[in-house]
Amino acid sequence: MIKSLLVSLALIASSALAAPATLTSKTSCSATAVSCSSSASSNTCCSPKYGLVVLVQQWVPGYGPDDAFTLHGLWPDECNGSYAPSNGCDSSRQWTNIESIVENYGPSTLHSDMLTYWPSDAESNNDFWSHEWDKHGTCVSTYAPTCYGSSYTKYEDVIDYFTKVLELRAQYDLYSALADANITPGGSYSVSDMQDAIQSAFGVTAKIDCSSGTLSDIEINFVVKGTTTYIPQNTSGSTCKGTVDYPSK
Ligand code: 5GP
Repeated sequence: MIKSLLVSLALIASSALAAPATLTSKTSCSATAVSCSSSASSNTCCSPKYGLVVLVQQWVPGYGPDDAFTLHGLWPDECNGSYAPSNGCDSSRQWTNIESIVENYGPSTLHSDMLTYWPSDAESNNDFWSHEWDKHGTCVSTYAPTCYGSSYTKYEDVIDYFTKVLELRAQYDLYSALADANITPGGSYSVSDMQDAIQSAFGVTAKIDCSSGTLSDIEINFVVKGTTTYIPQNTSGSTCKGTVDYPSK
């Protein structure tokens, strides 16, 4: 009886440990490979296939906390800055119900953090989040379900993507970076002073975008070390020129 129990336990343990040959486990990835460099892995589970990743935050009066930029998205691009496919990268994982996936499969704080920091100014939050996932989230190759090996749980890729984007927003808190240089909403500032503030907070330049002279979005590019460490890069192409209006929310 004890012997057969031990045999069963051994069988269960070996089947849990041995991932099917077709699956690639992230545990075997180099932690020091850097996307868009000579050390990048050709295994797209280990280095993102689209290795230049753009974090886009927006400043939209009427949306989100008075003291925070909100999210537009996290976009994986080619290393030369060309966009990933505009219709997304994996049609088998495009969902129209991201809000309910986040509510039902994510940690309890994920949905509330998205409501706070990722509101849509143009359509329902669900439609905006589903669009961002379908077009951009499915292009983060390291979140492909096969990369999780046999431990993958339903929608883990979706939850990991949105969790990472929120983590980056908090880490690259543009409101605080600007406020630390006395650049606060309700005034006008030179774009070079804004760049200096971002440079002293994060060590890189950003793409600061305006619409008719008013601040609209700020983008920061990253390369990815291993699968989870995002390293900011100088980002060019600001459309704001001269003086920028930074309105109160
Ligand atoms: P993108 O394709 O650049 O990732 O996202 C832009 C699309 O998302 C547009 O179709 C736009 O209408 C929609 N959208 C919905 N809500 C927002 C929002 O709050 N900000 C921006 N920039 N686009 C939004």
